[in-house]
Amino acid sequence: MSLRRILCIAAHPDDIEFTVAGSVAGWTSEGREITFCLATTGSAGTNEHTPSSEGLIPIRERESREAARILGVQDVIFLGHQDGVVEPTIALRRDLTRVIRRCRPDVVVCGDPTVRYYGNQYLNHPDHRAVASAALDAVFPSSETRAIFPELLTEGLEPHKVKEVWITGAIPPDAWIDIGDTLGRSARRSRRTSRRWARASGSTISWGWAVRDGKHAGVKHAEAFRRMVLWDGP
Ligand SMILES: [Zn+2]
Repeated sequence: MSLRRILCIAAHPDDIEFTVAGSVAGWTSEGREITFCLATTGSAGTNEHTPSSEGLIPIRERESREAARILGVQDVIFLGHQDGVVEPTIALRRDLTRVIRRCRPDVVVCGDPTVRYYGNQYLNHPDHRAVASAALDAVFPSSETRAIFPELLTEGLEPHKVKEVWITGAIPPDAWIDIGDTLGRSARRSRRTSRRWARASGSTISWGWAVRDGKHAGVKHAEAFRRMVLWDGP
């Protein structure tokens, strides 16, 4: 099977569920190996726990593992950066490069760092942009270049060349995955701490996205990507 290993990188614990859960469920049922990498703790995901959001972190982590399990994903990596104030620093890029060299994925899935807003109602979260930016920089040139982050070599992490990048939320997308079969397995329902928000907007929004993207793909429900083929090797 080509493109067997897929690494999904996101800023927040629930980002993957809202963007690529249907595709992930399809990939795991095809026998692909999926890893989730979540850059932040998710501690700023709700105002209900402020000013002390510490108690939220283990809840988020537990939910993320449960959501991953429902989608057939065993491997969830938490980088533990502070939610809400992420910047595309060299430290973050190094963390993501380390994850890429460890997982050695054929495909990296991440957000679009160039999108500042969607339509007239949604400002893209700065964490989404920061993590997506660092992720793309980690894919190229950091993960494949020996001289970048030599400290990773001392950890035994040799360079790795990612074959494809699938960018979610890209404007415009150019690839679509039909998620009609897998939509019912979406892990959104398991996320208790964002349930109120999901009830108010999330489920409607993500369902609307799937319908909108499905129209482009000529199917009922789809998830949209910009697909970049960096290397067509073995
Ligand atoms: Zn998010």
